[in-house]
Formats: sequence, C-alpha cells, structure tokens
Amino acid sequence: MDIIRSLDTMHALALGWRARGKKVGFVPTMGYLHRGHTTLIELMRQRCEILVVSIYVNPLQFGPNEDLSRYPRDPEGDSRRCEGAGCDILFMPDNLYPPDFRTTVSVGAVTTRWEGAERPTHFQGVATVVCRLFGLVQPTAAMFGEKDFQQFTVLQSMARDLAMGIEIVPGPLVRDHDGLALSSRNVYLSPIERHRALSLHRALFLIRDHTSTSAAERLAAGRAVLDCDGLDYLAIVDPDTLEPVDHIDRPLRAIAAARYGRTRLLDNVALEP
Ligand code: AMP
Repeated sequence: MDIIRSLDTMHALALGWRARGKKVGFVPTMGYLHRGHTTLIELMRQRCEILVVSIYVNPLQFGPNEDLSRYPRDPEGDSRRCEGAGCDILFMPDNLYPPDFRTTVSVGAVTTRWEGAERPTHFQGVATVVCRLFGLVQPTAAMFGEKDFQQFTVLQSMARDLAMGIEIVPGPLVRDHDGLALSSRNVYLSPIERHRALSLHRALFLIRDHTSTSAAERLAAGRAVLDCDGLDYLAIVDPDTLEPVDHIDRPLRAIAAARYGRTRLLDNVALEP
C-alpha cells in the first residue's frame, strides 16, 4: 500500500489509471477507522482492480459548534487497518482546498430534512468534498455506508443528477457485538451513556418488527423504549425521497438521531411491509 499526501500526485496517478481503463474503487472516510469502515474497504476490494481509501476530516461539513477540533484521529492505526483490508492507495491530504477554492455543491430537497434540519450546512460540505475527491481520484465506483443513510441518498442523487458516471454503492451498516451502530464518535460516550445508547437500535428494531401498518403506531412504540438526552428525530421515510410516510406498504427506512450527553448518534433500519 502507498500513502499519498499530495493532491497533484493523486490526480496524476488517477488520470493514468483512467487512460488504461482500470476499474478504480473508492472509499472516502474521515479516519479513526473501525470495523464499519474496514467492511466497506473489504467489500469494495472485491469489485475493483485498484482500491483507494481517503482519510480527510473535512472542515466544510462541520457546523460552528461541532466537534471538528476534537474529532478523533489515529493515522498510524488507520494506515494498518487500510493495508489489512486490502487498500492499494491511502490518500491522506493535509489540506484539500486551495486558497482560491470557491465552489459549493448543493443537492436539493433530500438535504433539507433530518440531518439537514439539525445541521444546515452539513450536506453542502459533504457533497462538495466528495465531488472534489471524485475529481482527484477519478473512481469508477465509490462505496458509502448505509449507517449514514441520508448521506448515501444525497450522494447517490448528486452522482446521478450530475451524470458523473460513478457507481455509488451502498455498504451495510455494521454494529458492535451488543447492537450499537459502530461510529468514530462512540469514543465520546461515557460507559453509562453507551449503555443507554443501546436503546436506540432496540427502538428501531422494535419499529421494524412491529406488526402495525400505521407508521404513527410503530413510532410511538419505538419512542416508548428510547432512553436519550434529546431525540432530534425518529421517523419512517421513503428510502429515495426521505419524505415521511403514514403507512407501511412498501420497503421503507426507519431513521433516528438521538443525543447522549454532548454526542449525537445516528442509526437506521430497513423496513419490509
Ligand atoms: P466517516 O469516517 O464517519 O465519515 O465514514 C466514512 C464512511 O464509512 C461513510 O460512508 C460511512 O457511512 C461509513 N460508515 C461509518 N460507520 C459505519 C458503520 N457502522 N457501518 C457501515 N459503514 C459505516
């Protein structure tokens, strides 16, 4: 595995692969890698000839009072994990934006609800960084985890609307042994908060396994078991538009964001009728 920090080196390599018609797989991350990330890397490995992983903590997607400065980092451990999962090129730029950078990418209605309502500039930051990374890495396919379900929908919409010619592949949500969705931010949780946070996936699984066809009834049952310091949202939505639904009559998604102390956790689960 090679580690590349220079934007020019990354771009020159990528253009060479493109000219030779290589299948390039890409897994963008913000580092502090766990089994959720390495699962995506291993799955992408099977679909491509050259596998690029990026690690970049993107300032554009953090709001003014969010955790940019204290976001956890472990470059040496990350590099070992990437190599172990089959990565060819670890792209780890110190900075991704030149001083005269002036473009933002805005994806529209799917960005306004849920995470977008809580974090108004977040998806613009995500879409902009992913667009720039796509330009530098020139992948044929990129994988994003269903853990961040709205993010996946936003990026799939972006690639389709802008005819980028990059396949956006969903990666499965990976959980810890006790069901908690793996997240780099789980390290912020105190032992008590972590224990209480188990109610998040329990609430979602209860919503999934409930037999009512009424979304309101299922959500009430979920809310009743949820123990958190603040529920930002718990909803059943159409997986493509992310609009809330009333009836469980087709494949849908239950999505949630809840706060434990200063930590916000996201989780979601697929619902079948
Ligand atoms: P992050 O480093 O948190 O920005 O995440 C990088 C990629 O890994 C994104 O596509 C995430 O959706 C994905 N990811 C993060 N946590 C998980 C998880 N528990 N299971 C699957 N994918 C994940």
